[in-house]
Amino acid sequence: MTEPLFRDDAYLKEAEAIVEAVDDRGIVLDRTIFYPQGGGQPGDRGELLLEDGSRLAILNTTYGADRKTILHGVAEGSALPQLGARVLGRIDWDLRLKRMRAHTALHLLTAVLPYPVTGGAVGDGEGRLDFDSGEAALDKTEIAERLNALIGKNAVVRTRWISDDELAANPGLVKTMSVKPPTGTGRVRLVEIEGIDLQPCGGTHVLNTKEIGEAAVTGVEKKGRINRRVRIALSRSAA
Ligand SMILES: [Zn+2]
Repeated sequence: MTEPLFRDDAYLKEAEAIVEAVDDRGIVLDRTIFYPQGGGQPGDRGELLLEDGSRLAILNTTYGADRKTILHGVAEGSALPQLGARVLGRIDWDLRLKRMRAHTALHLLTAVLPYPVTGGAVGDGEGRLDFDSGEAALDKTEIAERLNALIGKNAVVRTRWISDDELAANPGLVKTMSVKPPTGTGRVRLVEIEGIDLQPCGGTHVLNTKEIGEAAVTGVEKKGRINRRVRIALSRSAA
């Protein structure tokens, strides 16, 4: 399996690793800072610096079929490293930070709109969530005001782990019905935005809501009778 370094520290921009496997689906490293596509967040891009000084572009990062191995995807025809080679991985940090800010803003959006979440996606400085909001009227201006008020609380974001049993005893923690938190490994990662939100999540987040910057609500669309899709965009760079 690949040690997911981004899980304990989402701010790592580069890290050394050893090549453990190479095939046409991608390169497997013993550890990585590249976030694999999942939970509505896209896979990281970046590059691997090889010992001979050459650079190998990583176009996407995905999980292997076992969900424990992480595959670093390269362009067809790339010169691939040898097994056992030492590489320096470097993510596209500008892109990742935009996604971390958007992802954290979407957690806050679930606090503004406390309805079951049926889908969502994290983009590059923007994102969306689908809510099973019933007949409730959702007002763009009001949502934006409340979202920015939460961002302005400068709340600390932290992670901790609980057991599968603790999660089973607290089903209210799961807001996202379409993406069940991964259980079966015995523990689940919780992301807490102090005083605002607590939910299981495996994604990457900023450490304080002040890093999100200002958010705009760019759309509220009907997606079926009781579903509403709310889109947000971050309108200035992080603090
Ligand atoms: Zn998250």
